[in-house]
Amino acid sequence: MSDDTQLADDALARVHDHRVPDPKSFKIKKTEPDSIGGFGDDDKPLAKAELKVLRQRLQDLQERLYAEHKQSLLIIFQATDTGGKDSTTRRVFRGVNPQGVRVWSFKQPSAEELDHDFLWRYHDHTPIKGMIGIFNRSYYEDVLVVRVKELAPKEVWKHRYDHINAFERLLADNGTRALKFFLDISKEEQRERLQERLDKPDKHWKFHSADLADREHWGNYQHAYEAMIRRTSTEHAPWYVVPANRKWYRDLVVARTIVETLEEMDPQFPPPEEGLDEIEIPD
Ligand code: ADP
Repeated sequence: MSDDTQLADDALARVHDHRVPDPKSFKIKKTEPDSIGGFGDDDKPLAKAELKVLRQRLQDLQERLYAEHKQSLLIIFQATDTGGKDSTTRRVFRGVNPQGVRVWSFKQPSAEELDHDFLWRYHDHTPIKGMIGIFNRSYYEDVLVVRVKELAPKEVWKHRYDHINAFERLLADNGTRALKFFLDISKEEQRERLQERLDKPDKHWKFHSADLADREHWGNYQHAYEAMIRRTSTEHAPWYVVPANRKWYRDLVVARTIVETLEEMDPQFPPPEEGLDEIEIPD
């Protein structure tokens, strides 16, 4: 066993499984955004080394998925502002062949998009066979911001949970696994991250006063996240509530979950053409 593999096994045991165990009774008040699983406060270097090993495994699995060209993986990130959707993507996917990964960020829908059913704008971006698709925000906004800010009447959004479950069933039947991560930070952690954006000139571009308006709705958002997780955690498209106050632990949980899911999907290189060993490359 190589040192790397030994390290990986030791550290991996300390990354807890954050899949929501019993969605129907999920309570957002009971989550622990500060959790670092089985690690200690001084274990950050170990966790960083572990992330490197997991990234290597991710790179290999992505290559197989691409070569096999039969299945795909859809990764969804939802979080409050400053929750870390961008940086998790950047840190977990560092070194992965960009040709096999597409990231889509969804903003406020255009007039044309609003004239369609709410899933229309997302469906076109779901990953094709062999690809990993990352949704930075997603159709879950249509039961989050839309619900909290009353952008559509309850009579409209209340049916969307069922529509989403049916949509994800369709994806699963077509060979697309969906993995959904809620990056869970505390209100105090958000305050610190927003303050950092004000304090550091190179982070000013990330600060939007509108985020403060959203922060005022913190309680309503928490309520909407709870409903989302209760109603849309399914066997084929589970929610993971990732403790995200500590960035290094958050990254490890996400990387581990993606690697283990890809290992379960078990993509295989396609068989080689026949007679390869008889071929000589001409000068
Ligand atoms: P981010 O915060 O993701 O880095 P922005 O600051 O541009 O990016 O915010 C995107 C905005 O788009 C958010 O305020 C979000 O609530 C909004 N948004 C995304 N999807 C929808 C939707 N389906 N309906 C309404 N607003 C949406």
